[in-house]
Amino acid sequence: MTQVKNVGVVGAGQMGGGIAHVFALAGFDVVLNDIDSAQIDKAVSTIQKNLARQAVKGAIEADAEKAAMARIKTSGDIADLSQCDLVIEAASEDQAVKKAIFQTLSGVLSKDAILASNTSSISITGLAAATDRPENFIGIHFMNPVPLMNLVEVIRGIATSKETFETTKSIIARLDKTMAVSEDFPAFIVNRVLMPMINEAIYTLYEGVGTVEGIDTGLKLGANHPMGPLELADFIGLDICLAIMQVLYEGLADSKYRPCPLLVKYVEAGWLGRKTGRGFYDYAGDTPVPTR
Ligand code: NAD
Repeated sequence: MTQVKNVGVVGAGQMGGGIAHVFALAGFDVVLNDIDSAQIDKAVSTIQKNLARQAVKGAIEADAEKAAMARIKTSGDIADLSQCDLVIEAASEDQAVKKAIFQTLSGVLSKDAILASNTSSISITGLAAATDRPENFIGIHFMNPVPLMNLVEVIRGIATSKETFETTKSIIARLDKTMAVSEDFPAFIVNRVLMPMINEAIYTLYEGVGTVEGIDTGLKLGANHPMGPLELADFIGLDICLAIMQVLYEGLADSKYRPCPLLVKYVEAGWLGRKTGRGFYDYAGDTPVPTR
């Protein structure tokens, strides 16, 4: 099995930051990369804040907080990931962007290094084919927020080797997370079930069946969900939700997965949810206010 000590994370958005956080806390050395230096700065301050919160709650020791921060290096240059044994890509949910990253990484890493994608929906086999090492390629799909969510979905592409899978399994155990294995079909298990529900909630709003508040309260109290589907969509990011619906729609060629036009409209407007301050709720004040 490949010994993994140095981990690279490409993409320092909400997921990349969380992934860097949990690896550093588990004792791995991390290099966090993004093309946007402001995203790296934001990720580092979020990691710091979240580690401090965990320490205050007694979930981790105070010295673990310090040690984890010291294990995280950042870089805007992907070549600085050359010493990594494992690189997890958590960039935008766009196949062309991801393939370009993997092509660059192929030329930079040692030949034994493992490549992984945190994609929510894109074919692992297709991404692997853009690299020089499809057998060392795997889907490692963390849930948001990464430090709090226990599940990691693992997806083997058609060429993924048993060794890569076994190494991945042992890494997830080191992170103290639980693994669910999915076959490589559009959106895998979790988003295949979750995203059509969110999309249907948006249709329910679009068709005037309910208000934002009515839909979210309905599902929270009526189905015992911890968050309403529209609140959850804002939390995930509406661009990510739309990208996943498009992968389901195209990949499974079934009209039941067609993205709701209202979701498309919100994304066109740049109303992407919490990360842009507005989605189905407005986040300008202390309490989110429904926008419909
Ligand atoms: P995000 O928009 O918060 O962050 C994406 C980051 O990727 C940005 O900081 C952007 O600057 C960076 N990026 C774009 N192109 C890059 C490049 N060429 N090189 C380096 N960095 C680049 O997105 P996110 O929510 O963190 O999602 C990232 C990935 O994780 C997506 O594949 C998404 O589907 C998946 N994911 C998201 C969630 C969620 O709830 N948001 C959950 C699980 C998985």
